[in-house]
Amino acid sequence: MVVRGGACRARVTTIVAKSYIKEARKRVPPKKDRIGPVLERLAVEHADAKIALTFASPLELVVSVMLSAQTTDVNVNRVTEKLFVKYRRPEDYLKVPVAELERDIFATGFYRQKAKSLRGMMTMLIEEFDGEVPEAFNDLLRLPGVARKTANVVSAERGAPQGVVVDTHVRRISQRLGFTKQEDPVKIERDLMRLVPRESWGRFPHLLIWHGRRICDARKPRCEDCPLAPDLCPSSRI
Ligand code: SF4
Repeated sequence: MVVRGGACRARVTTIVAKSYIKEARKRVPPKKDRIGPVLERLAVEHADAKIALTFASPLELVVSVMLSAQTTDVNVNRVTEKLFVKYRRPEDYLKVPVAELERDIFATGFYRQKAKSLRGMMTMLIEEFDGEVPEAFNDLLRLPGVARKTANVVSAERGAPQGVVVDTHVRRISQRLGFTKQEDPVKIERDLMRLVPRESWGRFPHLLIWHGRRICDARKPRCEDCPLAPDLCPSSRI
């Protein structure tokens, strides 16, 4: 009985939540009319939004982004501060024993897989790209350990974004803003590439990431302090 009652209450809550979101969507303009003002207000609110990783070259950038999987940017910066003094060129990653490289990146987690990817990446850079990080998006995607998100970050930071970076903040806030209903990052990116003007593909993810860190928290969004509430966000609690 308790279980049935609980399930019933959950269903009522779901229906109420869905109808609330449906109603809320009606009180904001269509997303194509909101994207411009959303970008403008977030740009004012987070004028300092930029990548939080510290790097001084394309090689350091791609290594940092790769190491940032499943850990924080602060943690990666702590590790790379020493790493980049010791490993300056692709050859440096190959001339030490694997165990030593694993030890040097241990604090970023998943160190075995990351060390393997780093060595594979450096081998390919030396053999196919004269030791340089390629600029073409499809070449970046061929590098071991480089998936679409990493290639997107690297391209955007080099001033030629080829897509929209989708991380946990971008996913959550895009959904709350009604910019996508998708859960799969590739489909979310496709929706955002259709909506966000191309010249903002690089800036947009930084704005959402900083908005997520500072205001639109996953558990407790601070709508009362949000510049998008209530007229631009269908999920606003105000
Ligand atoms: S109004 Fe609330 S839910 Fe919408 S973006 Fe702002 S903080 Fe997030």
